[in-house]
Amino acid sequence: MGGTFDPIHYGHLVTAEAVRHEFAIDQVLFIPTGQPPHKALGAVSDAESRYLMTLLATESNEHFYASRMEIDRGGFTYTIDTIRALQKIYSPGTEIFFITGADAFYQMFGWHNAEELLGACTFVAATRPGYQKEELIRRIGVTNQDHPRRRFHFLEVPALAISSSDIRERVRNGRPIKYLVPEAVENFIKKHRLYREEEKG
Ligand code: NAP
Repeated sequence: MGGTFDPIHYGHLVTAEAVRHEFAIDQVLFIPTGQPPHKALGAVSDAESRYLMTLLATESNEHFYASRMEIDRGGFTYTIDTIRALQKIYSPGTEIFFITGADAFYQMFGWHNAEELLGACTFVAATRPGYQKEELIRRIGVTNQDHPRRRFHFLEVPALAISSSDIRERVRNGRPIKYLVPEAVENFIKKHRLYREEEKG
């Protein structure tokens, strides 16, 4: 489960649980992105805070784990490096799923080593209610129609009506975020005064 998680919210958690159930997945690793190549430096909150919030949010689910692997790797974060690292950790034959928000897949053919990535795991694109997926399907289909191992799934998650950008804006405007994020994450945001100033980037 990849994402910026700035901050992690119930939409992400519900997505992970829904995908875990749908595909009978044993473990979900929540991997906060270190430095996204497609976002300006400083445009996202510091990696340590995002990791700690992810850790707090995933603590109560026995199938969920938070991973530091992308934030500890340094440099720009490329998903292919993560998948290669996971392939080394898990035994051969382990099926790896890469789960993230559908919009993130829009530019996927421009991602580092996209062709290798496409063959290396199964993709699950989580969508918000009302998401028009035709354009994304067209892009994936047209550009990569003949790939023999293409595995791509969509899963609509109503709870994804919650979004990190809305949460950041709510905090900036002094509006409540209770019940949108786990209480421990809400307290962390409060205590460390995250998202108080004008959004950067
Ligand atoms: P993003 O552009 O910040 O997010 C795109 C959309 O997806 C947003 O609506 C976001 O909502 C949602 N989203 C993000 N993560 C999600 C998750 N785990 N579950 C459900 N919805 C999610 O995307 P990003 O976070 O930067 O990137 C997503 C993943 O793709 C990361 O793991 C990143 O490393 C990877 N990626 C890799 C490359 C590469 O290898 N070159 C390039 C781009 C992205 P919220 O804001 O509410 O989360």
